[in-house]
Amino acid sequence: MSASPTVTWLGTGNFEVPPGRYWNSFVVRGGGLTFLVEPSPTSLPHLRTAGLGVGDLDVVLISHFHPDHTFGWPFLLFEILDKRAGSTGHPLTVVGPPGVAGFLEQMMDLGSMQVTHRNAHARLEIRYVEASDGSRHQLADLVELRAVEVEHVPELTCLGYLLDLDGHTLGYSGDARPCPGLDTIASGCATFVIECNGTHPNRDKGHMDTGAVRELAARYPAVRFVATHVGADVTAEKLPGVLLPEDFTTIELGSSARSG
Ligand SMILES: [Zn+2]
Ligand SMILES: [Zn+2]
Repeated sequence: MSASPTVTWLGTGNFEVPPGRYWNSFVVRGGGLTFLVEPSPTSLPHLRTAGLGVGDLDVVLISHFHPDHTFGWPFLLFEILDKRAGSTGHPLTVVGPPGVAGFLEQMMDLGSMQVTHRNAHARLEIRYVEASDGSRHQLADLVELRAVEVEHVPELTCLGYLLDLDGHTLGYSGDARPCPGLDTIASGCATFVIECNGTHPNRDKGHMDTGAVRELAARYPAVRFVATHVGADVTAEKLPGVLLPEDFTTIELGSSARSG
């Protein structure tokens, strides 16, 4: 029986950083790999606070290119280069929507960090994986990732993911409004980490609110729903039966059915 995979939140808030919550980002450990899901602006300091070094990261997973999900990349890459340069046999895999490698390089250019970018790619083994709707990626013997496109904003491809960790399947929505992709994820996972941005009065609705999460959860009673990327108006009272973690909360995904 393998150990239960875990999820540790480095942040649980939405773009607006509601009081007491930093930008949504979390670490998944399971199937022999450590994932950083969303390199948010505060992911590096919060990895340290959580006692998780960048030296442990195997995979960085990105849902879409909005800054609350990605603008921690220059700080992470600098730290990874510092901690891992010269160590062989520990590749870093970066998974994201089409164009992810170019997007991250452009970010380094804008920050005048071309030297760090070049050195990191010369001295480390960094592999980019472009995911798209329905694509499957075998990341380790017992770890398969499947991408599911969700609807968020028209100018960006946004992906949700199904992550099979040695028999435990974790779903993640990325940023999404109610759409068929969320049903695809919900019907394929045991635990669904879902965005619940809450009310967003100034824009076309590209997110979930508490009513939309309740409605989805009611249709998949066997799935454990966990809300993240939450806004100031999102409370446990409005999400009965849905887990609402705080920054630095860790949950276990449950025991594996797989033996041996
Ligand atoms: Zn977001
Ligand atoms: Zn977004």
